Amino acid sequence: PAQSRVAAVTGANKGIGLAIVRNLALQYPKSPFNNGPLLIYLTARSAEKGAEAVRSLTSDPQLKEAKVLAQDGGLTTIKFQELDISQTTSIQQFSEFLRTEHPQGLDFVINNAGIAMQGFDSNVVKTTLQTNYYGTLEATQDLLPLLRDNGRLVNVSSMAGKLNKYSDDIRSAFLQAAKTDVPACTALMERFSQAAADGKEKEAGFPSAAYAVSKAGETAFTKAIAVKEARRGRGVLVNACCPGYVKTDMTKGGGAKTPDQGAQTPVMLALHDIGGKTGGFWQSEKEIDW
Ligand code: NDP
Repeated sequence: PAQSRVAAVTGANKGIGLAIVRNLALQYPKSPFNNGPLLIYLTARSAEKGAEAVRSLTSDPQLKEAKVLAQDGGLTTIKFQELDISQTTSIQQFSEFLRTEHPQGLDFVINNAGIAMQGFDSNVVKTTLQTNYYGTLEATQDLLPLLRDNGRLVNVSSMAGKLNKYSDDIRSAFLQAAKTDVPACTALMERFSQAAADGKEKEAGFPSAAYAVSKAGETAFTKAIAVKEARRGRGVLVNACCPGYVKTDMTKGGGAKTPDQGAQTPVMLALHDIGGKTGGFWQSEKEIDW
């Protein structure tokens, strides 16, 4: 085949997602997965922004200097594909495209797309969960079966989804759900939505923060799916991570790390030896407590 390895990154037109694509290209040649040409699908919900991002990488001085792109004699080709993770049809179309184009399967999937909205009204709760929880879940469920043996799936969750801001009951329920199955995780998201709609999320043991809860849910379902995937014995590793506090549009000028630094943990979980670990939550290239 022209491409011996295939990767897909969501929400990759800017920020950490774009940096993940750059760093996949930079680190692939020295990764244990190097097996010849790599094709990376840089996906975005806007065709215009996605195409512009691909152009920016094909003229990126650091990539040119490192000669990692096929145009400069390297291994990696970057192509755009449209993917809006909040739309079921878009996820299905992308999966179908990959199935047709790459019948031998994918090697790396990095679910990075996410949103952070201001405020705490019913629209914020609905939209945030729709993208960060349900959208990432659907992309995970549709793309995971396309991974080949020993493939990697990485979900870019957040330290905002750590379990230190819940009542003991809800905290236990998250830990239990992550060991049980996806419906148990989704039930917690429904419990939060209902409580928030009634103005009683605090009494119910949740914080008044849709982003935090959506990311706790993302980490939970990633763990639940990793347990199930491990039973299939294909050697596919499924992990969640926090990129750290990164300077992007999302953090509006805040952030201690550059996007390239934020990309290191997700890229490590895709490309490097992680001792066969699956179902972990990682930050700063180490497994941490959830
Ligand atoms: P940005 O806002 O810079 O980038 C977010 C990306 O996700 C954009 O490409 C955006 O596309 C895309 N996106 C949003 N909604 C969708 C959708 N429905 N379908 C497809 N793509 C979508 O944020 P960051 O780069 O900072 O964040 C990347 C990830 O890292 C997120 O999951 C975030 O929660 C997580 N994270 C970030 C931290 C930080 O400090 N920055 C800390 C912890 C976690 P568009 O340009 O079209 O809006």
